[in-house]
Amino acid sequence: MADLYADIIVDIAHEKLDKPFQYRIPEKLRGCVEAGMCVMIPFGNGNTLRKGYVVGIGTTCKFDPAKIKEIVGPAKSEPSVEEKMVALAAWIRRNYGSTMIQALRTVLPAKQSVKKLEHKRIVRCMTREEIISLLGEAQRRHQNAKVRLLTQLQDQEVIPYEWVTGKLGVSAACIRSLEAAGAVRLEVSTSFRNPVRLNEVSADTRQLSADQQFIVDQVLKDYDDGRRGTYLIHGITGSGKTEVYMELVAQVIKRGKQAIVLIPEIALTYQTLLRFYRRFGDRVSVMNSTLSPGEKFDQCERAKNGEIDVIIGPRSALFTPFPSLGLIVMDEEHEGSYKSESTPKYHARETAVEAARLQNASVVLGSATPSLESYYRALRGEYRLFRLTRRLTGGKLPQVHIVDLRRELREGNRSIFSKKLQELLADRLEKGQQSMLFLNRRGYAGFISCRSCGHVMKCPHCDVSLSEHRGNWLICHYCGYRIPKPPVCPECGSKYLLGFKAGTQQIEEKLKELFPGIRTLRMDADTTGTKDSYEKILSAFANGEADVLIGTQMIVKGHDFEKVTLVGVLAADLSLSVGDYRAGEKTFQLLTQAVGRAGRGKLAGEAVIQTYQPEHYAVVHAAEQDYEAFYEEEILYRELSGYPPAAHMVAVQVFAKEESKGKDLADRLADVVKSRVDVELPFAERILLIGPAPACVGKVNDVYRHVLYIKHKDYSRLVEMKDLLEEAFSRWKPQAVSIQFDFDPMNTL
Ligand code: ADP
Ligand code: ZN
Ligand code: ZN
Repeated sequence: MADLYADIIVDIAHEKLDKPFQYRIPEKLRGCVEAGMCVMIPFGNGNTLRKGYVVGIGTTCKFDPAKIKEIVGPAKSEPSVEEKMVALAAWIRRNYGSTMIQALRTVLPAKQSVKKLEHKRIVRCMTREEIISLLGEAQRRHQNAKVRLLTQLQDQEVIPYEWVTGKLGVSAACIRSLEAAGAVRLEVSTSFRNPVRLNEVSADTRQLSADQQFIVDQVLKDYDDGRRGTYLIHGITGSGKTEVYMELVAQVIKRGKQAIVLIPEIALTYQTLLRFYRRFGDRVSVMNSTLSPGEKFDQCERAKNGEIDVIIGPRSALFTPFPSLGLIVMDEEHEGSYKSESTPKYHARETAVEAARLQNASVVLGSATPSLESYYRALRGEYRLFRLTRRLTGGKLPQVHIVDLRRELREGNRSIFSKKLQELLADRLEKGQQSMLFLNRRGYAGFISCRSCGHVMKCPHCDVSLSEHRGNWLICHYCGYRIPKPPVCPECGSKYLLGFKAGTQQIEEKLKELFPGIRTLRMDADTTGTKDSYEKILSAFANGEADVLIGTQMIVKGHDFEKVTLVGVLAADLSLSVGDYRAGEKTFQLLTQAVGRAGRGKLAGEAVIQTYQPEHYAVVHAAEQDYEAFYEEEILYRELSGYPPAAHMVAVQVFAKEESKGKDLADRLADVVKSRVDVELPFAERILLIGPAPACVGKVNDVYRHVLYIKHKDYSRLVEMKDLLEEAFSRWKPQAVSIQFDFDPMNTL
């Protein structure tokens, strides 16, 4: 039998990953050494025994076989945090597909001594009473920006500079004038520590409601009995989920453990952070994208040394090396941003469950619109489900009108605003109340529908919509099926068979034509290019500087606007009809959030959903804000068509500079899959191959993309297929092509 060799990393640090040493695997250890494992090896001239981490195994010896050393045996001691992280990397590599080095780079912080960023803070220099008297003066003079800053300074002694200029919309000049008056001073520090200092640490604990307390008690009872579980809290926005997370975190800290709180980057607002700072003071730290790699490394060191108990951050905060992790919280667990877009394309939810298993921690997921995956598992008893049904902040659910756009056209209204929406907009303008108009940007994928009857051109094989391509072709991005674009609608014969293209800018122009003098703010990729612009637009709107806020999905997240009493969704279908099995789910989530934006304050709200498919269940149930009803229909569709979570799929992407090379490789990979399809098995148990086909975006930067999908109800079968394809790929060593795997993809590729 040929000898086996292992690549081993001795010093487990990000920057040393590219320097593995090779060792022979002795006969007796064959079959039990695998990537991710921690082993003992003789190292250096003195052959001192050291710990090493296996990152790869192969049959070729890269050195003189006579001189190569052998692995002594597996390491025996209690695994350290690092070793658990390496084990997590191995799990990621296996379940999502990547090299061990890529996986390790994902979980280990880069040790970098890069220049630290400066963190500017505004520090109050006067007493609270003096600030209040200044505030009164500013109010009399109608100095609005000054009022906003002084109001904040009443309760807070230190405020991050970017937050003042960003969220509060206060200019540098205004800050300088307060500085000149001796009210504040600017402080610059290079260490990233708790950026907030509160007036008196207002021990900010609330009496939990009975529903909230029940969840806390149940999770803690399990915890104290030694049971580690995964829990899902389904509760509408404002139902008190964050308060539950904080209490659980506090209780876990009491037990000498630490906690990781994951939040989508976009929801990582100052408001949320402030609540955690109030509660946990200096023991909490934030990991966000504004930190430099050096600062991130610092944060990890602080966590490892026990200087902090809680870390809040997006996806990557999951890999914080706490000495004794007790809890992982994942807020808005349905968010797409929890899935990594680069290899390894891991999902933070599944990875959190594995990380918790390795570190003996519990996981709490929360959402107003849980992912189908989590709800499915909760109903099957894998996760424990809790519900919070009451909104603690008051405000009633808005009255929702569904407008049938086909009827609008029949009645001669070709405007992008339906009659109902125009009427309600005019009413709000008159009353001086605010409105939000929401455009689903996901429509640009190029789907085609009939403006007259709403018919969407779909693939007869895949139940996803066809996309329009150059040369008047309609193509299915799942299986490659193509037809020439028909001149008229096959359903009703209308010639209005069109792609829907309307940008936020166009909507703004049309709105101004319709209502001269209307004050608008626009929020989309164009207007939010710079770092603070997102917060700036939102705060301008909150300050009443516009009548209408127009935007893409960004505007439906976070932020309560008291005066918004009308929400208009211009074309709900734009996300329903993109060629994507998650379209219904995404649409439901977006519509539910959008509708929920109206009527947050004391005034009652209304929402208008314009659609070509008024009877679609995602539209109907979002209008009723009925998650369960939506889930029941959606899961049926997933079960019937074999999509996650009822079954699993992996997308294999092939990248090539030359189109023919990419296509060849995709075909060869497909042949490998086909050779494994067992035709003896009943159809439902066979591996299913779809494609290969050109990817949705067939060419990027002159690199051609092909994709094939493999489906099976068992995830582990797909992992086997991935291993097989990886193995074939490394055997063939094809030139100028690469492959990537994406398990249970979030989008059509
Ligand atoms: P969610 O995370 O579900 O959106 P939050 O925890 O943010 O909900 O709570 C919504 C609002 O209700 C917050 O302003 C919070 O301070 C308040 N709140 C939460 N729990 C309680 C409680 N037990 N008593 C009073 N107010 C509460
Ligand atoms: Zn038609
Ligand atoms: Zn198809």
